[in-house]
Amino acid sequence: MNAIDALKPRLRGPVFLPGEAGYEESRTVWNAMIDRKPGAVVRCLGTADVIASVQFAREHDLLLCIKGGGHNIAGLAIADGALLLDMSLMRGVWVDPARQIARAQAGCLLGDVDRETQVHGLAAVLGFVSATGIAGLTLGGGFGYLTRRWGWTSDNVTGMELVTADGRLVRASGEENPDLFWGLRGGGGNFGVVTGIDYKLYPVGPEIVGGLVAWPASEAPKVLELYRTLSEQAPPELTLVSLTRPAPPAPWLPKDFHGKPITALLACYSGNPDEGEKVVAPIKSFGSPIGDVLVRRPYAQMQTLLDATQPKGRRYYWKSEYLPRIEPALCEKVMEHAAKIRSPHSAVILFQIGGALNDLEDGHSPVGNRDARYVLNVAGAWEPAADDEANIAWAREAWSDMRRFSTGGTYINFLTQDEGPERTQAALGRGLERLAEVKARWDAQNVFRTNRNVAPA
Ligand SMILES: Cc1cc2nc3c(=O)[nH]c(=O)nc-3n(C[C@H](O)[C@H](O)[C@H](O)COP(=O)(O)OP(=O)(O)OC[C@H]3O[C@@H](n4cnc5c(N)ncnc54)[C@H](O)[C@@H]3O)c2cc1C
Repeated sequence: MNAIDALKPRLRGPVFLPGEAGYEESRTVWNAMIDRKPGAVVRCLGTADVIASVQFAREHDLLLCIKGGGHNIAGLAIADGALLLDMSLMRGVWVDPARQIARAQAGCLLGDVDRETQVHGLAAVLGFVSATGIAGLTLGGGFGYLTRRWGWTSDNVTGMELVTADGRLVRASGEENPDLFWGLRGGGGNFGVVTGIDYKLYPVGPEIVGGLVAWPASEAPKVLELYRTLSEQAPPELTLVSLTRPAPPAPWLPKDFHGKPITALLACYSGNPDEGEKVVAPIKSFGSPIGDVLVRRPYAQMQTLLDATQPKGRRYYWKSEYLPRIEPALCEKVMEHAAKIRSPHSAVILFQIGGALNDLEDGHSPVGNRDARYVLNVAGAWEPAADDEANIAWAREAWSDMRRFSTGGTYINFLTQDEGPERTQAALGRGLERLAEVKARWDAQNVFRTNRNVAPA
């Protein structure tokens, strides 16, 4: 990147070349399997830096890549040789409590938005792990504990600001550039560099009822059956997740169980806590748990509960599908494949979604998949690179065996690096054609292609 010196005077934020302080931090992402080397990094300090960088990349014919929270498992944020726009300095959040809207800069992590909105007893519909970036999550759909009440994260966006391929700053909302607004709510980073996102907020917390209860694997058949029946009848305020895995070394689990197979239910009741205590009572009184931290707690704490199990720097490989329902035969498969886990950090997870997201039409936004009620995530996680093959083989085998329970759709934000265009098609379905038209209008030359790429029509 010889020309980079000419970019520096056009920026407020710093630039890092390979070998310089800051470069390594910017180029590394959550998944340690991703080891790519951009040609240079710009740590943008505002919208003007984004505009200058996009224009510079166009003038010098440089490939662009954009990093939000760096949590995409496929490492889509980083490309070899590219000019990397690292958004991590753009983390401002402004809350308008009267209108119940938050405007967040695109480098925010989920925890940034939760922290500022909870000051007002409000929350946006975000995901489960606080270090995830809002940009990647929202641009691909987004789900979490509030999804069953209010839909995908992207259903709750009222506007976005972005820098387009020709270096212009535009706004997309229901009134301004509605085609672009449609595309941004599931079409990923295909249309430009998003600089700000406006979220609808809802009164949540500050106290909710949430947490985990865990049982030994010997009780898994009954626990998964409980999960199946309770989740089918759950009110929208309740979200249930099952985790079947070796027990992590968490302080709330007895030491002699660490590393041994368990099944845990993660629950969050985001409505009135008095009601929540009644709703989760059947979970707390079920069987003989080895640990129970399903209690009244601050919503902000709930939003960080899984963080420790998902550290940056492990090697990760996932396989996922949307499910229309939980069938007893699937529960058996969950146990069978969890018993073959090859690492202390892996898990077979069933996330409950559904609810409000099922109420909208498929074409409401490209994220689609309005028939999805659960997400199956075969989540491989390990440390030594020498174990790559065994862990990847485990995840693939489990997924192939359980795939038949799928709606046929899959979550675009959970796709791994070896999943190609046919999986993007499975994720976006009929929306892909319309996305290609929007892409042709806003990025005909495919400047933004380090993503789940939509070819311009
Ligand atoms: C531990 C963990 C937990 C997760 N939990 C959830 C969950 O609860 N719910 C859920 O829905 N998903 C979840 N995900 C998936 C998550 O939505 C995706 O990994 C998402 O891509 C993360 O966004 P990011 O900004 O951190 O990603 P990055 O890796 O930084 O970026 C992902 C993609 O978005 C693009 N992008 C980033 N910023 C911008 C921008 N400003 N403008 C344009 N394009 C941009 C990048 O170029 C890249 O293509 C989780 C992932 C992890 C690793």
